[in-house]
Amino acid sequence: MIYLDHNATTPLDPRVLEVMLPLLREAWGNPSSPYRFGSQAKAAVQQARKRIADRLACRPADLLFCASGTEADNLALRGVASALRSKGSHIVTSAIEHHAVLNTCKALERNGFRVTYVPVNADGVVDFTQLAASICDETLLVSVMHANNETGVVQPVEEIATLARRRGIVFHTDAVQSTGKLSQGLAALGADLVSFSAHKLYGPKGAAALYVRPGTPLEPVTTGGAQEHGLRAGTENVAAIVGFAEAMAIAFEEVDGEGQRQRELRDRLEREVTAAVRGVRLNGARAPRVPNTSSLSFQDIDGESVVVGLDARGICVSTGSACSTGEPEPSHVLRAMGLSSQQAQSSIRISLGRQTREQDIDCAVRALTEVVGRLRQISSVRGRFE
Ligand code: PLP
Repeated sequence: MIYLDHNATTPLDPRVLEVMLPLLREAWGNPSSPYRFGSQAKAAVQQARKRIADRLACRPADLLFCASGTEADNLALRGVASALRSKGSHIVTSAIEHHAVLNTCKALERNGFRVTYVPVNADGVVDFTQLAASICDETLLVSVMHANNETGVVQPVEEIATLARRRGIVFHTDAVQSTGKLSQGLAALGADLVSFSAHKLYGPKGAAALYVRPGTPLEPVTTGGAQEHGLRAGTENVAAIVGFAEAMAIAFEEVDGEGQRQRELRDRLEREVTAAVRGVRLNGARAPRVPNTSSLSFQDIDGESVVVGLDARGICVSTGSACSTGEPEPSHVLRAMGLSSQQAQSSIRISLGRQTREQDIDCAVRALTEVVGRLRQISSVRGRFE
């Protein structure tokens, strides 16, 4: 199998598994229990929190652990909306956010909030001028992602953070797809709230974090115990949190070398595919991107059929975001960039990872050339009989 869908999820790094095993086998206590067996688990969580905080250059107390990037996004948006309801009812986000943010905004709209979905340009970059113009006295929150999961395009979050701070508005960014792919730390993002997810950086599923700048108004979304400063009730997933810290440490150590290596492989893939196949469009390729992601559209071909054809050859890629699989709608991200519904439906996402080697890229280029060639042949034969 050649796995080229690392933006959907990454394999667990064996070094991460190693640090998790003792917590699953032996030190499996509840961190809230009063005896030593519980304190051991609590200490493991606190040590993991400190390790991640050191990497991100924030205070351990500024990090809340939760179960997924989706949950971190929900906590950020719903938590601020609920805390600031008396201040205003307007939220600004972008048209290309992950469904974890978009569908949360839709839910907030049903609860009386007004949401502006700022458009992007043809390269997939959020229109800063329109974003600035959409802010009003009623605006309580701006949420714009750091790197897009489908195109890899990096958004101008520092500029947006500066604007939000000047206007006294809380700013959240979803850094689920940029963490471990870009070396920027938290300070560079300038956000009040930042979402992270372990399984996108070779950590386990079931662990994620929300950074909360001290003083940011936030109300809990789940009610229950007093875990995570009362902001995220529920027994901590100790082994996964410890694995998350190890994964984060490795990601920061390897980010520069891996970034350079994957960028070269990704660029080679794009060069070779565009040379071998006619009618290929590279989405977002003129904008700054995370180094591992490529979004390609193949004229007159159904992206889903390309994914199936590659799967038959042992190659895993996706059509846009994994969460939209099974949805008949074409990618909202590509549509927002101005692609027609048909163009968006003719697209695939290839995302490289630590295990990707040159021979995988060569194999993927050969397979893509064959699959697209065959699909075009079939559609031209079908066209002749229709
Ligand atoms: N945000 C972005 C940008 C993502 O790509 C994803 C997952 O694809 C999520 C949030 C959701 O993260 P999780 O799978 O941990 O819920």
